[in-house]
Amino acid sequence: MNVGFLGLGAMGAHMARNLHRAGLLAGVWNRSADKAITLARELDVHAATDPADLAERCEALVLCVSADADVLQVIDQILPAAHPGLLVIDCSTVSGGTAKEAAARLATKGARFIDAPVTGGVEGARDAKLAILVGGSEDDFARAQPILGAMGATITRFGDVGAGQAAKATNQILCAGYIRAIGEAMSFARSQGLPLAQVVETLGKGAGSSWYFVNRAPNMVRGTFPAGFRVTLHAKDLRICRDMAEAAGAELPVVEMLLKDYAQLVEEGHGDEDISSVFRLTERLFPSA
Ligand code: NAP
Repeated sequence: MNVGFLGLGAMGAHMARNLHRAGLLAGVWNRSADKAITLARELDVHAATDPADLAERCEALVLCVSADADVLQVIDQILPAAHPGLLVIDCSTVSGGTAKEAAARLATKGARFIDAPVTGGVEGARDAKLAILVGGSEDDFARAQPILGAMGATITRFGDVGAGQAAKATNQILCAGYIRAIGEAMSFARSQGLPLAQVVETLGKGAGSSWYFVNRAPNMVRGTFPAGFRVTLHAKDLRICRDMAEAAGAELPVVEMLLKDYAQLVEEGHGDEDISSVFRLTERLFPSA
């Protein structure tokens, strides 16, 4: 199968490389052309001039861009060359409504769509260990298997188009709770004079541990928060969670708390840092530390 990849950001560049390793990658496209030209040269694949150029050459396209409006913009750029049999797999994190809208637009050309947001961070993308949460028909899911299998380790279909994004929103609420609790716990541990590296090493093996604790509490020990999962991206995801909860008549306190934290971090110029920079705020809970 000839696969094209669109959106070579922190996640997408790794995912495209893994498709190449599996012998599936025919070409790449990125809004800023330099990233596509550099990767295409390195992997010896086609650097597409626009999304339609890639759609013409491929049976499947994988998309990994930032937010709802970006996905629909790229879908509209694919549409002139969309053809019956083309399968578009969107790995971006957006709302279930956007997934349904993308599927409807592609259906006008006989093309198919599944939503396949991912979790596992940049490391999971690099190591092809992503969990991939899929919404779409059983037939399209079956067709996408070789592609998804090249990028991820745990691949689950949750239902029709939009269900993958609902599962991803569920995951983002979990991440919100963990990162805030880890910030508070690490700030508390520091206020108690505990050796933080040992706290991470030992509690990382205990019942209170999580992927976020093991992989991101070390950022808090070092006091540096290099871009992994950016504050602005998680804020975008939590606004999706808020909207979906509101539609179900609910307000989610953890989501609201983190949205306030992230607004504060963005205001202080930390929006491009990893979300573990919430530690900057939890540190202030202990003014004398
Ligand atoms: P990123 O590094 O900021 O990359 C974003 C990519 O989207 C870039 O290639 C960018 O192109 C492209 N893009 C943005 N708007 C576009 C538009 N209107 N038209 C065309 N291309 C556009 O983001 P990322 O971390 O790779 O995240 C990508 C998606 O994966 C997001 O939905 C995010 O929520 C999700 N995700 C991220 C993580 C993580 O840990 N980073 C984990 C799971 C899921 P340019 O290069 O031209 O800017």
